[in-house]
Amino acid sequence: MKYFGAHVSAAGGVENAPLNAEKIGATAFALFTKNQRQWSAAPLKPSSIGAFEANCRAGGYAPGVVLPHDSYLINLGHPKDEELKKSRAAFLDEMRRCEQLGLDRLNFHPGSDLGLIGADRCLRLVAESIDWALERTRGVTAVVENTAGQGSNVGYSFEQLATILSLVKDQSRVGVCIDTCHAFAAGYDLTSDEACERTFDEFDRTVGFRYLRGMHLNDSMKPLGSRVDRHRNLGDGFLGMTVFRFIARDKRFDDIPLILETPDESRWPAEIELLKSFEKEG
Ligand SMILES: [Zn+2]
Ligand SMILES: [Zn+2]
Repeated sequence: MKYFGAHVSAAGGVENAPLNAEKIGATAFALFTKNQRQWSAAPLKPSSIGAFEANCRAGGYAPGVVLPHDSYLINLGHPKDEELKKSRAAFLDEMRRCEQLGLDRLNFHPGSDLGLIGADRCLRLVAESIDWALERTRGVTAVVENTAGQGSNVGYSFEQLATILSLVKDQSRVGVCIDTCHAFAAGYDLTSDEACERTFDEFDRTVGFRYLRGMHLNDSMKPLGSRVDRHRNLGDGFLGMTVFRFIARDKRFDDIPLILETPDESRWPAEIELLKSFEKEG
């Protein structure tokens, strides 16, 4: 079955995220386990962890439908030693927070070479960073998200994602999250059923659905191949509704968190309702 949700607020404590997910009719959710614009945060309080777990149980959210997202500051492919170390330490802290919350995956953007070392070297650093963090944690899968290829961000092509995955030692704890807006901005057409068929077949050949641990469902403000990461609510952008109907009806997207990161949050309940109705049609 499908699990639809949104990246909900954890303001006031992580325990509020499952409550916010319930309010919008979500069967999955994403959250930041700390302020995403700061390097460090106070450790999670035991009372907060307990309440998070209780609220997840009460709302019917198993660990496999929760997709935590790491801080935007982290760059696991940073070309400079000191900064790379700082990013790795922050990423490890994020992984440990997931561990403490009983969650089994952490979604992150691979990184950026800042125009200094080239994509290949950057992808190798990302894989080494993942290895480093996996060696120091248990039970949490590192979930690499495809990017729009904005600026010097790596990970915009399925080949680049496959390169990272292939370099990671523990294959049981690495996966990917595909963002529809990012894929489209990076040049993957998703505007018709045929285009979706082609793009996801290419994904399967290059990366493999066995690695898919989550999806971000966002329409795109910018056209195909723009390399610009600007989300729109479903149906308001260049993607239109086709790809979201396609995903809701396709069994290959079963049993993973399917997460809205659309800008107008007041429309999340209606968007989730719509996605559920697409699933029923299929
Ligand atoms: Zn995303
Ligand atoms: Zn984005």
